[in-house]
Amino acid sequence: MWTLSGGSYSAVLMVEKQYNMPDARGRFGPYGGAYVPETLVPVLDEITKAYKAVRRDKAFQQEFKHLLETYVGRPSPLTFATRLSEQFGRKIWLKREDLNHTGAHKINNALGQVLLAKRLGKKRIIAETGAGQHGVATATACALLGLECHVYMGAEDMRRQQPNVYRMRLLGAECIRVDAGTATLKDAINEALRDWVTNVEDTHYIIGSALGPHPYPMMVRDFQSVIGKEARKQILKSEGVLPDLIVACVGGGSNAIGIFHPFIKDKDVRLVGVEAGGRGSDLGDHAARFEGGRLGVFQGTSSWVLQNEDGQITGTHSVSAGLDYASIGPEHAWLRDLGRAEYMSCRDDQAIAGLHLVAEKEGIIPALESAHAFGALPELVESVPEGGVIIVNVSGRGDKDVAEVARYEGVQL
Ligand SMILES: *Cc1c(COP(=O)(O)O)cnc(C)c1O
Repeated sequence: MWTLSGGSYSAVLMVEKQYNMPDARGRFGPYGGAYVPETLVPVLDEITKAYKAVRRDKAFQQEFKHLLETYVGRPSPLTFATRLSEQFGRKIWLKREDLNHTGAHKINNALGQVLLAKRLGKKRIIAETGAGQHGVATATACALLGLECHVYMGAEDMRRQQPNVYRMRLLGAECIRVDAGTATLKDAINEALRDWVTNVEDTHYIIGSALGPHPYPMMVRDFQSVIGKEARKQILKSEGVLPDLIVACVGGGSNAIGIFHPFIKDKDVRLVGVEAGGRGSDLGDHAARFEGGRLGVFQGTSSWVLQNEDGQITGTHSVSAGLDYASIGPEHAWLRDLGRAEYMSCRDDQAIAGLHLVAEKEGIIPALESAHAFGALPELVESVPEGGVIIVNVSGRGDKDVAEVARYEGVQL
């Protein structure tokens, strides 16, 4: 039995009753909600209603399942990591989202939301992207299901991720360059929100993580929960027991909440999210919201935010673009308050070491984001009994990161 960090037993009982959060107003405890311009309120209500309907709609769920199986390649395998297990003296299993079509978990949500947009009668899809993974997943889903796709991307990110920009174009999407602010992810989200306000009649905005105004954090969580539902069945089949520990990296928090959620009622399963510790603990050098942030409202939702004394968003840094964001999904903030999930950070150098370890011991090059979960393992295994069972979520594959790792290590390609 694990001990609670910062929560109480009554809080855990509350989780049992309310694990189907958010409440009717889109709030997870004091977090979440919908902080948007007035013009977006009716469309968010429309999406909430439609989403509640498709959640119970057999035909919709069947179509989603069919695409996940025949197009994405689900269920993704749960692979036993033989040599890592030997090294750490614990049974380590890998949930292989890296094997999905387009190389990460993002496609689960993109497909779910494009299907929903079709139900809503929308013809045009917009999305934001940082490293390009969500942009590629959305462009892919739009190509498959025949919708027009426009992806907002910061100029700086476009420069760093040229192959993904071209990939989106090959898939028939338009990639729109954003020069405002620091020309990165948050600026792309601002521009996408601006587009949405103007074109809300025919346009659906697909947010790429468990972030943004209600109902997005809930909707994205549900679409990503397929990860945890599969993992739960797979580990019971292979080990006959639930895991002692589940580890996942946390950017906005969608892969983590996706694998955590189906285990929330299993109180003996420890859930640990790993944030980007970057170069160090100074504000601006990392993206560990729970270590340097505080309560704030950013891009439509209330959560832990990295901000200065005046409440202005501060710069963030991580070697992995997908974890480099100033806020975290509201459900994570709530699970942390309740003591049901724990969060820690892993620095750039530890993540790079984690990537090397899995590459050399298992023949899998994980995404730099996923590498943070492996970078945290040496510390985490200490708290798991010898022979205990651990699942690590491999949120994506590292092909996109090979050049970045070489650059980090001063290797000329
Ligand atoms: C986008 C991304 C992440 C971070 O996003 P979450 O919403 O926190 O999951 C993590 N891993 C990979 C491979 C990604 O592409």
